[in-house]
Amino acid sequence: MDKKNRPERFMQRRLEALHKRHLYRQLHVVAAGCDPWLERDGQRLLNLSSNSYLGLAGHPDVKAAAAAAASELGCGAGASRLIAGTSVLQITLETRLAHFKQAEAALLFSSGYMANIGVIPALVGPGDLVLGDELNHASLIDGCRLSRATYQTYPHTNVTALEQHLAQARTSGPQGQCLVVTDTVFSMDGDLAPLADIAALCQQYDALLYVDEAHATGCLGPGGRGLVAATGVKEQVTVAMSTLSKALGNAGAFITADQLVIEYVLNVARSFIFTTALPPTVVAAALAALDVLEREPQRVERLQALGTFLRQGLQQLGFNTLASATHIVPVLVGDSARALEMASALQQAGVFAVAIRPPTVPLGAARVRASVMASHTEEDLVFAIDAFGAVGRRLGLIA
Ligand SMILES: *Cc1c(COP(=O)(O)O)cnc(C)c1O
Repeated sequence: MDKKNRPERFMQRRLEALHKRHLYRQLHVVAAGCDPWLERDGQRLLNLSSNSYLGLAGHPDVKAAAAAAASELGCGAGASRLIAGTSVLQITLETRLAHFKQAEAALLFSSGYMANIGVIPALVGPGDLVLGDELNHASLIDGCRLSRATYQTYPHTNVTALEQHLAQARTSGPQGQCLVVTDTVFSMDGDLAPLADIAALCQQYDALLYVDEAHATGCLGPGGRGLVAATGVKEQVTVAMSTLSKALGNAGAFITADQLVIEYVLNVARSFIFTTALPPTVVAAALAALDVLEREPQRVERLQALGTFLRQGLQQLGFNTLASATHIVPVLVGDSARALEMASALQQAGVFAVAIRPPTVPLGAARVRASVMASHTEEDLVFAIDAFGAVGRRLGLIA
């Protein structure tokens, strides 16, 4: 046997190549990863890397709901939704989520990743066309690829280019369905999709529209209902996907849509059908998180006010925060090695904000991604801005 092809050899080679390009990844063990301050290697760090944006993962009501569900209902759902895994609790959460999103119906998934890779292939397939923003989340890209529809990307948030794709599709493209797929808040740039324009184009060209509100639901729009609600385009959106794993502080995801769409997805989306239902602890905790959000919508405004505070502070220091307009504030570095260097210097200065490198972001666009939580204080963010300033000057990123 040719020893060169032994599996461990090729893995070693690929790992070395990743190291060389500063793209090697490893796990960081932290404690209290959803709190405004976390602990790592015995050091207390300001946490600018949690997606528990509203501070709900550790909320006493949410924890109590999970504990009560565990003691009453046990820890596992025991079966997939369509077998014996549907409980009153799940139907209650779906009804509440549909109401929250002012949609006809909602359907839970085990994760946002699974929702995206299941629902997109349910909407389009061979002979159809799917158009995606080039900076869409990896799970959307995977959903598009898995669908086996013709998949094309358009330049980030560029509606002129999107219109050209749609116009061309109508004359010479695949003759089937056409689907447009976009994040509403982009996860690594913190900017917004031009949703009103995209929705209008979808209507004009008779295309379906799938939006991913993972970083929008609970974070912006009226009462945290997301960018679709803020833009008033619900009628033009075929399916909106939101997660329970970010602002809502738990795990899992849900789609909202018209009743017919939900009935259809439930019958054909493989990542819904062939997996065990979310455990009762998660479902109960998500319900409690939704209660808190509906009772305290001011958390949403606070999140965006803190996002603006951090963004403006970093911009005043001379950092490039790209087109961020939300609680997600990237600091563009460019080179992956330098982004790693900056993240590690920030950690020494007491700030946990991780380097984001390709393939999560385009080549040459490595960055340190900072995101705020409603549970941060202004003093926390002043501390962060000072640390970014000191580190940025030392590394020559700002004057
Ligand atoms: C996090 C994320 C997902 C995946 O959601 P999970 O529940 O973590 O699987 C999907 N889309 C976007 C835009 C995300 O940021």
